Amino acid sequence: MTQALLVINSGSSSVKFATYDVVRPGSALARIANGRIEGIGSHPRLQVWGQGNEPLEDRRISVSNDPLLGPQEAFAALFDWLGRHAAGRTLGAVGHRVVHGGEKFARPVRVTPDILAQLDGFTPLAPMHQAHNLSAIRAIASLYPDLPQVACFDTEFHATQPWVAQACALPRQITEAGVKRYGFHGLSYEYIASVLPDHLRAVANGRVVVAHLGNGASLCAMQGRRSVASSMGFTALDGLMMGSRCGSLDPGVVLYLMSGLGMSVPAVEKLLYEQSGLLGVSGISGDMRVVEASEAPEARQAIDLYVYRIAQHLGSLAASLGGLQALVFTAGIGENSASLRRRVCGDAAWLGVALDEAANQAGGSGARCISTAGSRVAVWVIPTNEELMIAQHTQAVLQGRGAHDWRSGGL
Ligand code: ADP
Repeated sequence: MTQALLVINSGSSSVKFATYDVVRPGSALARIANGRIEGIGSHPRLQVWGQGNEPLEDRRISVSNDPLLGPQEAFAALFDWLGRHAAGRTLGAVGHRVVHGGEKFARPVRVTPDILAQLDGFTPLAPMHQAHNLSAIRAIASLYPDLPQVACFDTEFHATQPWVAQACALPRQITEAGVKRYGFHGLSYEYIASVLPDHLRAVANGRVVVAHLGNGASLCAMQGRRSVASSMGFTALDGLMMGSRCGSLDPGVVLYLMSGLGMSVPAVEKLLYEQSGLLGVSGISGDMRVVEASEAPEARQAIDLYVYRIAQHLGSLAASLGGLQALVFTAGIGENSASLRRRVCGDAAWLGVALDEAANQAGGSGARCISTAGSRVAVWVIPTNEELMIAQHTQAVLQGRGAHDWRSGGL
Protein backbone atom coordinates (compact mmCIF):
# COMPACT_ATOMS: atom_id res chain seq x y z
CA MET A 1 0.00 0.00 0.00
CA THR A 2 1.34 3.44 -0.93
CA GLN A 3 1.98 5.98 1.77
CA ALA A 4 1.19 9.65 1.19
CA LEU A 5 2.21 12.94 2.76
CA LEU A 6 0.11 16.07 3.06
CA VAL A 7 1.81 19.49 2.93
CA ILE A 8 0.07 22.54 4.41
CA ASN A 9 0.92 26.21 3.96
CA SER A 10 -1.60 28.03 6.11
CA GLY A 11 -2.34 31.78 5.96
CA SER A 12 -4.83 34.09 7.63
CA SER A 13 -7.89 33.11 5.61
CA SER A 14 -6.52 30.60 3.13
CA VAL A 15 -4.65 27.32 3.11
CA LYS A 16 -2.56 25.95 0.25
CA PHE A 17 -1.97 22.20 0.28
CA ALA A 18 -0.37 19.43 -1.74
CA THR A 19 -0.27 15.66 -1.43
CA TYR A 20 2.63 13.40 -2.38
CA ASP A 21 3.08 9.69 -2.92
CA VAL A 22 6.00 8.14 -1.10
CA VAL A 23 6.72 5.34 -3.50
CA ARG A 24 9.15 3.85 -1.02
CA PRO A 25 10.96 5.50 1.89
CA GLY A 26 13.95 7.45 0.64
CA SER A 27 12.80 7.53 -2.98
CA ALA A 28 11.60 10.59 -4.92
CA LEU A 29 8.25 12.09 -3.98
CA ALA A 30 5.58 12.34 -6.67
CA ARG A 31 2.89 14.98 -6.33
CA ILE A 32 -0.64 13.56 -6.43
CA ALA A 33 -2.73 16.72 -6.13
CA ASN A 34 -2.62 20.28 -4.90
CA GLY A 35 -5.21 22.84 -3.96
CA ARG A 36 -6.36 25.59 -1.68
CA ILE A 37 -9.12 26.56 0.67
CA GLU A 38 -10.02 30.25 0.56
CA GLY A 39 -12.44 32.21 2.71
CA ILE A 40 -11.73 30.46 6.02
CA GLY A 41 -13.69 32.26 8.74
CA SER A 42 -16.45 33.17 6.31
CA HIS A 43 -17.58 30.98 3.37
CA PRO A 44 -14.71 28.61 2.61
CA ARG A 45 -14.22 27.29 -0.91
CA LEU A 46 -12.22 24.12 -1.62
CA GLN A 47 -10.38 23.79 -4.93
CA VAL A 48 -8.23 20.82 -5.92
CA TRP A 49 -6.16 20.13 -9.04
CA GLY A 50 -4.65 16.82 -10.13
CA GLN A 51 -1.18 15.80 -11.33
CA GLY A 52 -1.63 17.43 -14.70
CA ASN A 53 -3.29 20.54 -13.18
CA GLU A 54 -6.73 19.30 -14.23
CA PRO A 55 -9.49 20.56 -11.88
CA LEU A 56 -10.74 17.84 -9.51
CA GLU A 57 -12.91 19.83 -7.13
CA ASP A 58 -14.34 23.34 -6.74
CA ARG A 59 -17.07 23.80 -4.16
CA ARG A 60 -18.18 25.75 -1.13
CA ILE A 61 -17.70 23.98 2.19
CA SER A 62 -20.86 24.00 4.26
CA VAL A 63 -22.05 22.38 7.46
CA SER A 64 -25.84 22.54 8.10
CA ASN A 65 -27.02 26.11 7.62
CA ASP A 66 -23.97 27.87 9.06
CA PRO A 67 -21.62 28.91 6.27
CA LEU A 68 -19.21 30.81 8.60
CA LEU A 69 -16.59 28.14 9.11
CA GLY A 70 -13.19 28.31 10.83
CA PRO A 71 -9.96 26.32 10.35
CA GLN A 72 -11.19 23.19 12.11
CA GLU A 73 -14.22 22.77 9.83
CA ALA A 74 -12.10 23.65 6.79
CA PHE A 75 -9.52 20.97 7.64
CA ALA A 76 -12.28 18.46 8.38
CA ALA A 77 -13.66 19.10 4.88
CA LEU A 78 -10.19 18.77 3.35
CA PHE A 79 -9.52 15.45 5.14
CA ASP A 80 -12.95 14.21 4.11
CA TRP A 81 -12.16 14.98 0.46
CA LEU A 82 -8.69 13.43 0.71
CA GLY A 83 -10.11 10.32 2.37
CA ARG A 84 -12.66 9.87 -0.42
CA HIS A 85 -9.90 10.19 -3.03
CA ALA A 86 -7.18 8.24 -1.20
CA ALA A 87 -7.32 5.35 -3.70
CA GLY A 88 -5.90 2.91 -1.19
CA ARG A 89 -3.17 5.23 0.10
CA THR A 90 -2.43 5.71 3.80
CA LEU A 91 -1.44 9.08 5.20
CA GLY A 92 1.99 9.03 6.85
CA ALA A 93 2.25 12.60 8.10
CA VAL A 94 1.43 16.26 7.58
CA GLY A 95 4.26 18.72 6.92
CA HIS A 96 3.73 22.41 7.64
CA ARG A 97 5.42 25.61 6.62
CA VAL A 98 6.13 27.49 9.85
CA VAL A 99 7.53 30.91 9.21
CA HIS A 100 9.63 31.46 12.35
CA GLY A 101 11.77 28.91 14.17
CA GLY A 102 13.72 31.47 16.18
CA GLU A 103 17.24 30.55 17.25
CA LYS A 104 16.19 27.25 18.73
CA PHE A 105 14.71 25.42 15.74
CA ALA A 106 17.39 25.07 13.12
CA ARG A 107 15.99 21.83 11.66
CA PRO A 108 12.50 20.52 10.78
CA VAL A 109 10.95 18.93 13.82
CA ARG A 110 8.03 16.66 14.70
CA VAL A 111 5.57 18.83 16.59
CA THR A 112 4.70 18.03 20.21
CA PRO A 113 2.53 20.12 22.55
CA ASP A 114 5.71 21.44 24.17
CA ILE A 115 7.23 22.47 20.81
CA LEU A 116 3.96 24.09 19.80
CA ALA A 117 4.04 26.18 22.98
CA GLN A 118 7.63 27.26 22.20
CA LEU A 119 6.66 28.19 18.64
CA ASP A 120 3.81 30.32 20.01
CA GLY A 121 6.54 32.49 21.52
CA PHE A 122 7.61 33.62 18.02
CA THR A 123 4.14 34.84 17.04
CA PRO A 124 4.91 38.53 17.78
CA LEU A 125 7.90 38.24 15.38
CA ALA A 126 5.70 37.12 12.48
CA PRO A 127 2.20 38.39 13.24
CA MET A 128 0.89 37.84 9.69
CA HIS A 129 1.92 34.19 9.56
CA GLN A 130 3.00 32.32 12.70
CA ALA A 131 -0.37 32.17 14.49
CA HIS A 132 -2.07 30.85 11.33
CA ASN A 133 0.67 28.27 10.73
CA LEU A 134 0.25 27.03 14.30
CA SER A 135 -3.54 27.10 14.29
CA ALA A 136 -3.47 24.70 11.32
CA ILE A 137 -1.33 22.29 13.35
CA ARG A 138 -3.72 22.59 16.30
CA ALA A 139 -6.81 22.10 14.13
CA ILE A 140 -5.39 18.92 12.59
CA ALA A 141 -4.13 17.65 15.98
CA SER A 142 -7.60 18.02 17.44
CA LEU A 143 -9.10 16.07 14.54
CA TYR A 144 -6.40 13.38 14.43
CA PRO A 145 -4.28 13.43 17.61
CA ASP A 146 -2.04 10.54 16.54
CA LEU A 147 -1.19 11.84 13.07
CA PRO A 148 2.47 12.92 13.01
CA GLN A 149 2.93 16.59 12.11
CA VAL A 150 6.25 18.14 11.14
CA ALA A 151 7.14 21.84 11.26
CA CYS A 152 9.53 23.13 8.55
CA PHE A 153 10.91 26.62 9.12
CA ASP A 154 11.39 29.55 6.75
CA THR A 155 14.25 30.79 8.91
CA GLU A 156 16.28 27.58 8.74
CA PHE A 157 18.08 28.10 5.42
CA HIS A 158 19.67 31.32 6.69
CA ALA A 159 21.36 29.76 9.73
CA THR A 160 24.58 29.56 7.68
CA GLN A 161 24.95 33.35 7.44
CA PRO A 162 28.06 34.88 8.99
CA TRP A 163 27.71 36.78 12.26
CA VAL A 164 27.93 40.18 10.55
CA ALA A 165 24.95 39.37 8.33
CA GLN A 166 22.86 38.27 11.30
CA ALA A 167 23.80 40.88 13.89
CA CYS A 168 21.92 44.09 14.62
CA ALA A 169 24.09 47.01 15.74
CA LEU A 170 22.37 47.02 19.11
CA PRO A 171 23.79 46.46 22.58
CA ARG A 172 25.15 42.95 22.89
CA GLN A 173 22.67 41.73 25.49
CA ILE A 174 19.80 42.53 23.11
CA THR A 175 21.39 40.61 20.23
CA GLU A 176 22.14 37.75 22.62
CA ALA A 177 18.48 37.72 23.67
CA GLY A 178 17.63 36.74 20.08
CA VAL A 179 17.13 40.15 18.43
CA LYS A 180 19.04 39.37 15.25
CA ARG A 181 18.44 39.05 11.52
CA TYR A 182 16.91 35.63 10.79
CA GLY A 183 15.84 35.92 7.15
CA PHE A 184 12.74 34.22 5.69
CA HIS A 185 11.44 32.46 2.54
CA GLY A 186 14.02 29.81 3.43
CA LEU A 187 12.03 26.88 2.05
CA SER A 188 11.82 28.61 -1.33
CA TYR A 189 15.55 29.44 -1.31
CA GLU A 190 16.42 25.91 -0.25
CA TYR A 191 14.50 24.54 -3.23
CA ILE A 192 16.15 26.97 -5.65
CA ALA A 193 19.59 26.14 -4.18
CA SER A 194 18.85 22.43 -4.73
CA VAL A 195 18.19 22.89 -8.46
CA LEU A 196 20.80 25.57 -9.26
CA PRO A 197 23.35 23.00 -10.54
CA ASP A 198 20.79 21.71 -13.07
CA HIS A 199 20.58 25.16 -14.64
CA LEU A 200 23.56 27.33 -13.77
CA ARG A 201 26.11 24.53 -13.86
CA ALA A 202 29.57 25.91 -12.89
CA VAL A 203 28.12 29.20 -11.64
CA ALA A 204 25.70 27.39 -9.27
CA ASN A 205 28.22 27.45 -6.44
CA GLY A 206 29.32 31.01 -7.20
CA ARG A 207 27.91 34.38 -6.18
CA VAL A 208 24.16 34.17 -6.72
CA VAL A 209 21.27 36.41 -5.66
CA VAL A 210 17.79 34.87 -5.67
CA ALA A 211 14.82 37.26 -5.77
CA HIS A 212 11.70 35.68 -4.25
CA LEU A 213 9.01 38.15 -5.35
CA GLY A 214 5.56 37.03 -4.20
CA ASN A 215 3.08 38.71 -1.87
CA GLY A 216 5.99 38.69 0.55
CA ALA A 217 9.30 39.50 -1.13
CA SER A 218 12.96 39.16 -0.27
CA LEU A 219 16.40 38.66 -1.77
CA CYS A 220 18.89 36.02 -0.67
CA ALA A 221 22.62 36.14 -1.41
CA MET A 222 24.08 32.64 -1.80
CA GLN A 223 27.61 31.39 -2.14
CA GLY A 224 28.28 27.68 -2.37
CA ARG A 225 24.44 27.44 -2.48
CA ARG A 226 24.27 28.56 1.16
CA SER A 227 22.69 31.73 2.44
CA VAL A 228 25.24 34.45 3.26
CA ALA A 229 22.85 37.43 3.51
CA SER A 230 19.18 38.27 3.16
CA SER A 231 17.15 41.43 2.71
CA MET A 232 14.71 40.24 5.40
CA GLY A 233 15.79 40.50 8.99
CA PHE A 234 14.38 40.03 12.49
CA THR A 235 10.87 39.89 11.05
CA ALA A 236 9.42 39.40 7.57
CA LEU A 237 8.84 43.16 7.43
CA ASP A 238 12.38 44.22 6.54
CA GLY A 239 14.00 44.69 3.14
CA LEU A 240 12.02 44.93 -0.08
CA MET A 241 8.71 46.71 -0.50
CA MET A 242 5.97 44.03 -0.63
CA GLY A 243 2.28 43.62 -1.41
CA SER A 244 1.15 45.25 1.83
CA ARG A 245 4.36 45.41 3.90
CA CYS A 246 6.59 48.47 3.90
CA GLY A 247 10.05 46.82 3.83
CA SER A 248 13.07 48.73 5.15
CA LEU A 249 12.04 51.77 7.15
CA ASP A 250 13.93 54.24 9.29
CA PRO A 251 13.19 53.00 12.85
CA GLY A 252 12.69 56.64 13.77
CA VAL A 253 9.46 56.56 11.74
CA VAL A 254 8.06 53.91 14.08
CA LEU A 255 8.98 56.01 17.12
CA TYR A 256 7.35 59.05 15.52
CA LEU A 257 4.14 57.16 14.63
CA MET A 258 3.78 56.23 18.30
CA SER A 259 5.09 59.25 20.17
CA GLY A 260 4.35 61.97 17.60
CA LEU A 261 1.07 60.71 16.10
CA GLY A 262 -0.11 58.79 19.15
CA MET A 263 -0.64 55.50 17.29
CA SER A 264 -0.96 52.34 19.37
CA VAL A 265 1.34 49.35 18.85
CA PRO A 266 -1.45 47.28 17.17
CA ALA A 267 -2.26 50.23 14.88
CA VAL A 268 1.39 50.61 13.85
CA GLU A 269 1.65 46.85 13.33
CA LYS A 270 -1.41 46.93 11.05
CA LEU A 271 -0.05 49.93 9.15
CA LEU A 272 3.36 48.37 8.49
CA TYR A 273 2.20 44.81 7.71
CA GLU A 274 -1.18 45.26 6.07
CA GLN A 275 -1.62 48.79 4.75
CA SER A 276 1.76 49.68 3.25
CA GLY A 277 3.80 48.40 0.30
CA LEU A 278 2.15 48.27 -3.12
CA LEU A 279 -1.26 48.67 -1.50
CA GLY A 280 -0.36 51.72 0.57
CA VAL A 281 1.61 53.54 -2.13
CA SER A 282 -0.79 52.82 -5.01
CA GLY A 283 -3.92 53.18 -2.90
CA ILE A 284 -5.38 50.57 -5.29
CA SER A 285 -4.19 47.06 -4.50
CA GLY A 286 -1.39 44.97 -3.04
CA ASP A 287 -1.71 42.59 -5.99
CA MET A 288 0.95 43.27 -8.61
CA ARG A 289 -1.31 42.23 -11.52
CA VAL A 290 -3.89 44.83 -10.52
CA VAL A 291 -1.28 47.55 -9.96
CA GLU A 292 0.43 46.77 -13.29
CA ALA A 293 -2.92 47.01 -15.09
CA SER A 294 -3.72 50.43 -13.63
CA GLU A 295 -3.06 53.71 -15.45
CA ALA A 296 -3.19 55.73 -12.22
CA PRO A 297 -0.05 57.79 -11.51
CA GLU A 298 0.02 56.38 -7.95
CA ALA A 299 0.17 52.85 -9.39
CA ARG A 300 3.13 53.87 -11.62
CA GLN A 301 4.88 55.35 -8.60
CA ALA A 302 4.23 52.23 -6.54
CA ILE A 303 5.97 50.11 -9.19
CA ASP A 304 8.80 52.67 -9.51
CA LEU A 305 9.42 52.40 -5.77
CA TYR A 306 9.09 48.60 -5.83
CA VAL A 307 11.76 48.36 -8.55
CA TYR A 308 14.00 50.99 -6.92
CA ARG A 309 14.03 49.06 -3.65
CA ILE A 310 14.92 45.79 -5.40
CA ALA A 311 17.76 47.54 -7.24
CA GLN A 312 19.08 49.04 -3.99
CA HIS A 313 18.99 45.76 -2.07
CA LEU A 314 20.47 43.87 -5.00
CA GLY A 315 23.46 46.23 -4.88
CA SER A 316 23.71 45.68 -1.14
CA LEU A 317 23.69 41.88 -1.46
CA ALA A 318 26.16 41.97 -4.36
CA ALA A 319 28.43 43.89 -1.96
CA SER A 320 27.96 41.16 0.69
CA LEU A 321 29.03 38.61 -1.94
CA GLY A 322 31.89 40.69 -3.35
CA GLY A 323 30.37 40.44 -6.85
CA LEU A 324 27.52 38.87 -8.75
CA GLN A 325 27.55 35.92 -11.18
CA ALA A 326 23.88 35.03 -11.36
CA LEU A 327 20.47 36.51 -10.59
CA VAL A 328 17.43 34.25 -10.24
CA PHE A 329 13.79 35.41 -10.23
CA THR A 330 11.16 33.28 -8.54
CA ALA A 331 7.63 33.31 -6.93
CA GLY A 332 4.45 34.88 -8.35
CA ILE A 333 5.86 38.21 -9.53
CA GLY A 334 9.39 36.97 -10.25
CA GLU A 335 8.12 34.08 -12.38
CA ASN A 336 5.33 35.92 -14.20
CA SER A 337 6.01 39.63 -14.60
CA ALA A 338 8.29 40.16 -17.60
CA SER A 339 7.98 43.94 -17.26
CA LEU A 340 9.12 43.90 -13.65
CA ARG A 341 12.09 41.68 -14.55
CA ARG A 342 13.00 44.01 -17.42
CA ARG A 343 13.03 47.03 -15.15
CA VAL A 344 15.04 45.33 -12.40
CA CYS A 345 17.58 44.04 -14.92
CA GLY A 346 17.82 47.52 -16.48
CA ASP A 347 18.70 49.00 -13.09
CA ALA A 348 21.25 46.20 -12.54
CA ALA A 349 23.14 46.86 -15.80
CA TRP A 350 26.03 48.36 -13.78
CA LEU A 351 26.51 44.92 -12.17
CA GLY A 352 26.96 43.33 -15.60
CA VAL A 353 23.36 42.22 -16.18
CA ALA A 354 22.31 42.16 -19.87
CA LEU A 355 18.76 40.95 -20.44
CA ASP A 356 17.68 39.08 -23.57
CA GLU A 357 14.29 40.79 -23.95
CA ALA A 358 12.90 38.18 -26.34
CA ALA A 359 13.73 35.39 -23.87
CA ASN A 360 12.31 37.49 -21.05
CA GLN A 361 9.01 37.96 -22.88
CA ALA A 362 8.83 34.38 -24.17
CA GLY A 363 7.10 33.05 -21.07
CA GLY A 364 6.76 29.35 -20.33
CA SER A 365 6.35 27.56 -17.06
CA GLY A 366 9.74 25.95 -16.52
CA ALA A 367 13.21 27.21 -15.64
CA ARG A 368 14.65 29.46 -18.35
CA CYS A 369 17.68 31.68 -18.96
CA ILE A 370 16.74 35.25 -19.86
CA SER A 371 20.17 36.91 -20.15
CA THR A 372 22.13 37.44 -23.37
CA ALA A 373 24.99 35.10 -24.25
CA GLY A 374 27.45 37.91 -23.47
CA SER A 375 25.93 38.94 -20.13
CA ARG A 376 28.49 38.91 -17.30
CA VAL A 377 25.66 37.92 -14.95
CA ALA A 378 23.48 34.92 -15.87
CA VAL A 379 19.82 35.77 -15.31
CA TRP A 380 17.30 32.96 -14.80
CA VAL A 381 13.64 32.46 -14.00
CA ILE A 382 13.23 29.32 -11.87
CA PRO A 383 9.78 28.37 -10.51
CA THR A 384 9.95 27.71 -6.79
CA ASN A 385 8.54 24.62 -5.05
CA GLU A 386 8.28 25.15 -1.30
CA GLU A 387 5.77 22.31 -0.99
CA LEU A 388 8.25 19.75 -2.31
CA MET A 389 10.86 20.94 0.21
CA ILE A 390 8.36 20.54 3.06
CA ALA A 391 7.37 17.08 1.82
CA GLN A 392 11.03 16.01 1.63
CA HIS A 393 11.77 17.30 5.13
CA THR A 394 8.64 15.64 6.49
CA GLN A 395 9.60 12.36 4.91
CA ALA A 396 13.10 12.58 6.40
CA VAL A 397 11.80 13.36 9.90
CA LEU A 398 9.26 10.58 9.75
CA GLN A 399 11.40 7.92 8.12
CA GLY A 400 10.81 4.60 9.74
CA ARG A 401 7.49 5.54 11.32
CA GLY A 402 4.26 3.67 10.64
CA ALA A 403 1.51 4.87 8.34
CA HIS A 404 -2.01 5.91 9.32
CA ASP A 405 -5.19 5.15 7.47
CA TRP A 406 -6.80 8.18 5.82
CA ARG A 407 -10.24 7.45 7.06
CA SER A 408 -10.10 5.34 10.21
CA GLY A 409 -10.45 6.99 13.61
CA GLY A 410 -6.78 6.26 14.19
CA LEU A 411 -5.63 8.45 11.29
P1 ADP B 1 2.49 34.13 -2.03
O1 ADP B 1 3.60 34.96 -1.48
O2 ADP B 1 1.18 34.38 -1.36
O3 ADP B 1 2.82 32.67 -2.23
P2 ADP B 1 2.73 34.32 -4.92
O4 ADP B 1 4.11 33.81 -4.98
O5 ADP B 1 1.65 33.50 -5.53
O6 ADP B 1 2.26 34.74 -3.46
O7 ADP B 1 2.73 35.77 -5.63
C1 ADP B 1 1.60 36.56 -5.65
C2 ADP B 1 1.92 37.82 -6.43
O8 ADP B 1 2.32 37.44 -7.76
C3 ADP B 1 0.77 38.79 -6.55
O9 ADP B 1 1.20 40.13 -6.36
C4 ADP B 1 0.33 38.58 -7.99
O10 ADP B 1 -0.28 39.73 -8.55
C5 ADP B 1 1.66 38.32 -8.65
N1 ADP B 1 1.48 37.74 -9.98
C6 ADP B 1 1.01 36.52 -10.30
N2 ADP B 1 0.94 36.38 -11.65
C7 ADP B 1 1.36 37.56 -12.18
C8 ADP B 1 1.52 38.06 -13.51
N3 ADP B 1 1.22 37.32 -14.57
N4 ADP B 1 2.01 39.31 -13.65
C9 ADP B 1 2.31 40.08 -12.60
N5 ADP B 1 2.19 39.66 -11.32
C10 ADP B 1 1.73 38.42 -11.11
